[in-house]
Amino acid sequence: MDEDKRLRVPVDYHIHERHSADTAPGSTVEAYVRRAEALGLEEICFTTHLIVSGPDVATGIDPDEIPEYFREIEEAQTSTSVRLRVGVEVDYFPGEEHRIERILDEYPFDFILGALHIVEGCDLGYRYGAERFFADRPMHKAVKTYFKWFRRAVESGLFDVMAHPDYFRRYLPSIGLRIPDFREYASEALEALEAMREHHIGFEINSSGYRHGIGDCYPTLEFVKAARRMGIENITIGSDSHSVEHLGGWLNHALETLTKAGYRRLSTYRGRRRRNIDIGI
Ligand SMILES: [Zn+2]
Ligand SMILES: [Zn+2]
Repeated sequence: MDEDKRLRVPVDYHIHERHSADTAPGSTVEAYVRRAEALGLEEICFTTHLIVSGPDVATGIDPDEIPEYFREIEEAQTSTSVRLRVGVEVDYFPGEEHRIERILDEYPFDFILGALHIVEGCDLGYRYGAERFFADRPMHKAVKTYFKWFRRAVESGLFDVMAHPDYFRRYLPSIGLRIPDFREYASEALEALEAMREHHIGFEINSSGYRHGIGDCYPTLEFVKAARRMGIENITIGSDSHSVEHLGGWLNHALETLTKAGYRRLSTYRGRRRRNIDIGI
């Protein structure tokens, strides 16, 4: 790997291993750890899916397997100097807050990443779900609806950080729709950011948009700039890897977005307590 390609980010806080059923074969904790060592990552956080409702329940970890998930990561920690953290990416479902809370309270997670993938029954993480969602409503209404539920997820107070805040953009180009400019949904985005500030919940800058072919992070630079102006300080960074080869993928681009917006620090979590680290540019 030449100097230009060297990963300039010491952490990756969004990783799916084999307990997420949508991962590639061989996505074991052990394989990720070896890859993290090769990349020079200092700390990684596993965030397997936890989905308590809807048609994708089986994509997430079976709550009965959570102790095994912890054990695998603890076992891997004995053979590496990369700091390993145990997290989970939790789908938000209105009305399921207590069930989610009970599961999260039962285990000593380091980090809880909240996610809004399914909006009013449409899974925006799949092309057909996005097609259905955007076919049923004009773009401005779709974005308004998305952020309404995103805000509700924030207000639940269940999560440390919200994953990929403008995830609704994922399939727009591939279903033939234009990605709206930030200005077109700025008021909804600002309300979401206001809720995050009020509830002390951060957001994630997620580099997988490059892998998904939208040529950008989630969220987009303008969103990050607005967060900066609002004084939001807790931001994690993640590749959203679903296979070992994607670990750390495009994180330099995500870092660049953060620094362009004026951020100089990133957040990490242990036992759900936040620590900020210097980006070191
Ligand atoms: Zn996600
Ligand atoms: Zn994910």
